[in-house]
Formats: sequence, C-alpha cells, structure tokens
Amino acid sequence: MIRVAMRPVPAIVRVVCLVAVVACSTPATTTPTERRGIVDNHVHLAFDPVADALAAAGVTTVVDLASPESALPGLLATRSLKVIASGPMLTRVGGYPLNSWGRDGYGIGCDDAACATATIDRLVGKGAGVIKLALDDAGLRDELVPVAVAAAHRHGVKVAVHALTEISAALAGRAGADVLAHTPLEPLTDQTVALWRGRAVISTLAAFGGSPAAIANLRKLRAAGCTVLYGTDLGNLRVTGPSSEEIALLREAGLDDAAIQAAMTSRI
Ligand SMILES: [Zn+2]
Repeated sequence: MIRVAMRPVPAIVRVVCLVAVVACSTPATTTPTERRGIVDNHVHLAFDPVADALAAAGVTTVVDLASPESALPGLLATRSLKVIASGPMLTRVGGYPLNSWGRDGYGIGCDDAACATATIDRLVGKGAGVIKLALDDAGLRDELVPVAVAAAHRHGVKVAVHALTEISAALAGRAGADVLAHTPLEPLTDQTVALWRGRAVISTLAAFGGSPAAIANLRKLRAAGCTVLYGTDLGNLRVTGPSSEEIALLREAGLDDAAIQAAMTSRI
C-alpha cells in the first residue's frame, strides 16, 4: 500500500493509482468496478516475455500486436494476464517488419488476395483475436487492404493497422479498419481524422518520442470522436507496467484524469 496523505500526489501517480487499485488501495475498500485493471493495448510479449511482471504491476489485459505464428498458442495460454493476440502482422513479401526487427516470423508476406485471405483464416483458426496489418511504404499492398479487412470482419475480428503516415491512415480508414495501432506520426488531414470517427487509436506516443505532430494527431482524433486506447508498444520500449511517460504524453494530448483512466482500462 502506498501512503500519500502527507504530501501532494503527482498527477501521474494519481492516475496510475486510479487504475492500479491492486497496488494502491486495500482490497476491502475496492468495488468490482474499481478492480478493473490496466489494459496495455499494444505489446509484443514474444519479443519481451514479461507477462508476470506486468501482472505484478497491475496490468490485467494486453493486446499482443505481432508475434511469430508459432508463439500464438503459448501467448494465448498465458495465465497471469488475459492476452488477445494477432499473431504475425500481414505485410508484403519481404516487407516490414520482415525486413528489420521482425525477420523471425513477426510478419507474413502476401502479395495476392488468396494469400491474404488464407492467412487471416488460418490465424483466426489458431485463436487470433485481432488481425494486424503493416501498411506504409514496405507494408501490405494497397489493393489488399480492403481484402484483408473484409476477411477479418467475416470472422467478426477487428483489424489494427500499423499506419504512421497520412496516406496509410487514410487508406486504412477508407478500407474500414478498426484501430490505429499507433498514433500516426505525420500530420493528418482533417479529412483523414474524420474517417476515424467512431473507431479507435492506440496511443504509443512514448515509443516514438512523443513528437508534437503525433500529440496533435491524437488530440484531433479524439476531438473527432475516435476512442483513445492506452498502449506502450512494449518490446519496442522496455517499460514493464504503467508507463509514466505515456501517461504524461496523454495528458499533453489533452486527456484529463478521467479520460486517461478510461484509456487505460479499455481494450480493442
Ligand atoms: Zn508494436
């Protein structure tokens, strides 16, 4: 139990305590609603296997947005946390992240519709609870984005997109994707922001340095009616548990305590 009565509580600690009731208050005084734990909507546990440490820090649910296909069963069998997992992200043959950090199977390359559809069918059959598409220059070919979204939606599974650029965020929005896996880094046009009304964006501001452009994008997306979800991109960053830096950046983007609490306790 953290005793904080003798001095003002910094805002970051206050918000973390709001959501991490396990660490900040006695069980006797918490209600079922208060017991909702922290959700990190963007992690890579196959890259950084710290599920137990996350659970100890008050995280109860994570969304794993890229792992090798062979790691899916193990991720879904995690006991200390609820894990929603995508398996490998769909990309072009030899594309991102196969051309860099994810060469060990964190992506599957497809250059035609049959491959994209069959891959999504297989991943959902193995328990994928969300489908992740890599977009931008080295990602899935433009014409396959609506095909992949339709294949996932036929299974009732949402689609998260790695789309850091304006052109990719617009493409994904038009194709009916559900979630931006990161706050885009390029300034978004008002037209693209409007496309994401009623959908969601995972913050991951700290993982990309908290640039003014990304913060402005998150502020505009939220103002347009896009739901903000807390996510750290664990594996890219190595912060185990609630990220004070991410919380501070969410505050810079205009979220108050209540909004940050909502972002940290909601999931895809
Ligand atoms: Zn990631």
